[in-house]
Amino acid sequence: MAKTILITGASSGIGKATAAHFAKHGWNVVATMRQPAEEHDLAAENVLVTRLDVLDDASIASAVAEADARFGGVDVLLNNAGYGAYGALEATSMEVVRRQFDVNLFGLVAVTKAVLPNMRAKRNGVIVNVSSVGGRMCYPLGALYHGSKWAVEGLSEALHYELAVLGVRVKLVEPGGVDTDFGGRSFVFTNDESLAEYQPMVSAMVSAREAMDTRTFQKPSGVAEVIWEAVHDPSARLRYVSGEGAKVLLEERFSLERDEAFLAAMRERFGIA
Ligand code: NAP
Repeated sequence: MAKTILITGASSGIGKATAAHFAKHGWNVVATMRQPAEEHDLAAENVLVTRLDVLDDASIASAVAEADARFGGVDVLLNNAGYGAYGALEATSMEVVRRQFDVNLFGLVAVTKAVLPNMRAKRNGVIVNVSSVGGRMCYPLGALYHGSKWAVEGLSEALHYELAVLGVRVKLVEPGGVDTDFGGRSFVFTNDESLAEYQPMVSAMVSAREAMDTRTFQKPSGVAEVIWEAVHDPSARLRYVSGEGAKVLLEERFSLERDEAFLAAMRERFGIA
C-alpha cells in the first residue's frame, strides 16, 4: 500500500519540489499551504492539496483529518514551512521576534503534535524537520532566524531519542543555499537607521547578499532527494546535510579545535572587531 507524506509550506521551493518528487514515486502526498486555491501544478490522483497555516491550529487539525479520511493517516511528516527574519535585535519589534519563532519553531511543534497520536498508535512514522546549515552556524544580524533554527535542531535532537520508543524516527535536513525564492518572498529584514552603530554591519550584510551567486545554489529538487534519502533510511541517523556548500561550512565549523577560528574568520569577514 502506498505511504503518505504530509508537507507544510508546499506552495513553493523545497516543499513543492518534495511534493512533486514523492508523488512521482507513487507516494500519497498531502501538500499543505496557506493559499491552496493558488496551486495549479501539483494536482494528481495521489495528491491532496489543502490549507494549513502553521499558525492556525484549526487548519492543522483539519488537514490531518483530511489526510486520515483520504489516505488512512500520515506516515511521514515534513515540517518545511519557514521564513527568515533578519536585522539587529534592538531594531526589531517583539511582534516580529515572536512571529519568527511562532512559524519556524512553534508551528513545527504544533503540526508534530497533531500527527503523533496516529504514529504512536501505529508504532511507526518519520518526522523530517527542515532546518538549515544556519541551524548549526550563524550569520550576523540573524539572531532570530538562526535562533529559531538552532531551536529546531535542539528540539529535534531531543525528540529523536524520545520518539524512538514509539518506533518514530526523527530526521533533520540541513540545506545550505538553495535556489528558491527564500531570499525574496521569505526574507524579512528590519533596520532602524537611527541606530548608527549597526549600519556598517547592515551594509556589509547587504553587500554580501548582493554578491551571492545563486547559480551555485542547490536546486530544490536536490534537497527533495536528500529528504527522500532521510525518509528511507531505516537507521537512527539524525542529520542529513544537503548541498556541497553546506558540507564544507559544517566541516569547518565542527572540527572542535577550529570552532573559535571559525567564529573569528566570520567576524573578520563582516568587519566585526
Ligand atoms: P520558500 O520557497 O519561500 O518556501 C517557504 C514556504 O514556507 C512557503 O511555502 C510558505 O508559504 C511557507 N510558509 C511560511 N509561513 C507559513 C505559515 N505560517 N504556514 C504555512 N506555511 C508557511 O523557501 P524555501 O527555500 O523552500 O524554504 C523552505 C524551508 O527551507 C524553510 O524552512 C527554510 O528555512 C529552509 N531553508 C531554506 C534555504 C534556502 O537557501 N532557500 C536554506 C536552508 C534552509 P506561502 O506560500 O503561504 O508563503
